[in-house]
Amino acid sequence: MPDPFKLSQRVLDIRPSGIRKFFELGLSMPDPIDLSIGQAHFDVEEEVKAAAIDAIKQGRNRYTVTQGIPALREALMARYAGRFGDVSDWDVMVTSGVSGGLMLSFLALLNPGDEILIPDPYFVMYRHLATMVGAKAVTYDIYPDFRVDAAKVKAKITERTRLIVVNSPSNPTGVAMSEAEARALARLADESGIALISDEIYEDFMYGTPHVSPRQFTSNCIVLSGASKSMGMPGWRIGWMFAPKSLSERMYTLQQFSFVCAPAPLQWAAVKGLAHDFSAHRAEYEAKRNLVYDGLRERYRCVKPEGAFYMFPYLPEGADTARFMDACIKQQLLVVPGSACSDRDTNFRLSFAATNEKLKRAVDILNQVATGL
Ligand code: PMP
Repeated sequence: MPDPFKLSQRVLDIRPSGIRKFFELGLSMPDPIDLSIGQAHFDVEEEVKAAAIDAIKQGRNRYTVTQGIPALREALMARYAGRFGDVSDWDVMVTSGVSGGLMLSFLALLNPGDEILIPDPYFVMYRHLATMVGAKAVTYDIYPDFRVDAAKVKAKITERTRLIVVNSPSNPTGVAMSEAEARALARLADESGIALISDEIYEDFMYGTPHVSPRQFTSNCIVLSGASKSMGMPGWRIGWMFAPKSLSERMYTLQQFSFVCAPAPLQWAAVKGLAHDFSAHRAEYEAKRNLVYDGLRERYRCVKPEGAFYMFPYLPEGADTARFMDACIKQQLLVVPGSACSDRDTNFRLSFAATNEKLKRAVDILNQVATGL
């Protein structure tokens, strides 16, 4: 008898996230040092929580218009007008997290068989979302220093390439694009006629230099960002997309027939969140970055993160990943093998969004592991 629940090829082509596995392992440990998952360690601000509760009590619990409430869209449009100048033909659409924005833009812009260029190492979702829409993710190499070289991206363009994904500051490396690099990518987008998708979800976590977006230098660029990381609300599913009006109007329809709208009361709370000053968190995370980078650089080859809250150290010379991971897990330390977000298996990702006490313990354990392998 044929299997009534025979899986689609789409699902069969997708591997479960290698990162999630460690998150689940962490849940089964009594007191793990969990540096595996990508979310800020702070909670939503009290006044933002209060705004969410107020919105619920006031009955803002119905569907919103699919593109999001005007108050939130207007606040975000003002932000982008301040950064990018004339944005009159552009639009902000509120999405179900940046994940929702990625899904909608891939659905809107990729046909089966098309190619999309993503960095290697990459944020895991890019590859699998491409597969979901029948497209093929092709990587451009950013090893060994994790900087994006537009010439290397260009070398990967074929007649099937439709989109180029950039992510600065980056998950999993923490490296941020310089102005020169952003300009070079913008030039590539203009010359090739291939649009950029700039995932700027970590834009508020920059340590030293200001955040740069390729959208400053080209209009062939969609910007995705959201509240999950900087407002400490990944479970609230609030993101947004800044795109040309002609495109986002088509995406409204896609959202209407899929996510419908982002959570209504939480959109109201996000308006409050946008007005909040997050610089204290930025300073706190910069200190955490220093703690892990300074603590590990002698025993591990590390590229210093300039933003986000990840570092992607190289495994000690000749180390076997499985043995390295086992040695960490034995000491209750969870990090992610580089192979979960790369074609290579030479690094590991750690998130420094944790208490300083846990980070210090993690540094000690990693240094011990490096000598014991
Ligand atoms: N982009 C990047 C680079 C991320 O690291 C994440 C979350 N880990 C997302 C997008 C998705 O975030 P969300 O859907 O919560 O907005």
